[in-house]
Amino acid sequence: MHPSSWHPDTAAVHAGREDLAAAGVHAPPIDLSTTNPLPDVERGGDAYETLATGGRPGDDDSFVYARLWNPTVARFEDALAALEGAEAAVAFSTGMAAVTAAVLAQTQAVGRPHVVAVRPLYGGTDHLLATGLLGADATFCAEDEVAGALRPDTGLVMVETPANPTLELVDIPAVVAAAGDVPVLVDNTFATPVLQRPLHLGAAMSLHSATKYLGGHGDTMGGVIACSEEQAQALRRVRAITGGLLHPFGAYLLHRGLATLPVRMRAQQDSAARIAAWLTGHDGVARVYYPGLDGDPRGLLARQMSGGGAMIALEMAEGYEAASAAAAAVQLFTHAVSLGGVDSLIQHPAALTHRPVAPHARPSAAVLRLSIGLEHVDDLIQDLDRALRSASGRDAAAPPVHISA
Ligand code: PLP
Repeated sequence: MHPSSWHPDTAAVHAGREDLAAAGVHAPPIDLSTTNPLPDVERGGDAYETLATGGRPGDDDSFVYARLWNPTVARFEDALAALEGAEAAVAFSTGMAAVTAAVLAQTQAVGRPHVVAVRPLYGGTDHLLATGLLGADATFCAEDEVAGALRPDTGLVMVETPANPTLELVDIPAVVAAAGDVPVLVDNTFATPVLQRPLHLGAAMSLHSATKYLGGHGDTMGGVIACSEEQAQALRRVRAITGGLLHPFGAYLLHRGLATLPVRMRAQQDSAARIAAWLTGHDGVARVYYPGLDGDPRGLLARQMSGGGAMIALEMAEGYEAASAAAAAVQLFTHAVSLGGVDSLIQHPAALTHRPVAPHARPSAAVLRLSIGLEHVDDLIQDLDRALRSASGRDAAAPPVHISA
């Protein structure tokens, strides 16, 4: 059976491991070689040429040098590609290294230096584009302004859905149609391929900060882009030139993380949906952001995702002071940036993850972002309830929280 015919739950466990039994091992080996023996100058040179221009090694080719190819990284890439329903995937040292490679491959490398970016985006991505550091000129716009923002030299359209931090959903097929022949990159970090497969909706690239749900345990940085083999060659070429490599040990951990990704996503999502619904009735909370909580008026959740995910944003009724006090008052949640791990986190986007964003596009100072983990949902609600009440000056003892399953 080929991985592409497996159910995603099966691909999560088996993809990238098809050859292990024949090799007599059960866990994927970690290949730490920085260099590889060359059969002779001629064949070594040919292999170098293939890999440095983004190609894959042939069966008998040397991998030459780890900046060009690493088999442990390739296993993770193959597994992620199977989950995304993509021909290929290319992995990087961080999500931002992946964003950088995508921008360089689609702009400078092809002489089309303009990017259209739909806001909101993760603060780091917004910052990278706004600074123009990569020589790309970015136009930020709303989802329905993409067609008007295109120029003859536009090389890339970027969207994030659900978007960090306030979980807006972007209509992927509509943006793809508006972009015409310009490739669309979707940052799929919040949804993961378990809930959304952007390539099936017409996007050219699906990008992840693998640091988040793919690894799932808060102990590995990584980035990865699922795409066509042709696009992958362009990305590998940039990776070989610029060196934003994923370390083989990180690749091993990310590959291991994929095996439990569907189970983690569904369990974390169940708790998030219940916490989001509970938050809507909380006195200290003015607004809750969670996909579908508003009744999915555009039908996007139903059309392009199989669930709302495990991220929530909330707006404190008493503004910044209350948000800051709530973040400091949690005991079970950790007050920390990042997301997507097995333990729950809370953070203040305007002060932290979205700090570099232009003030008019920055999230409100009353907003907090929650990443819901695998703890019992009753314990999470109890912790939030106590923190939100004390932060809003409503700390009359909360009734015990019992949520039926
Ligand atoms: N994309 C999204 C949606 C993110 O949340 C992040 C980081 O928080 C990134 C990209 C960047 O990833 P990394 O921190 O792995 O570089």
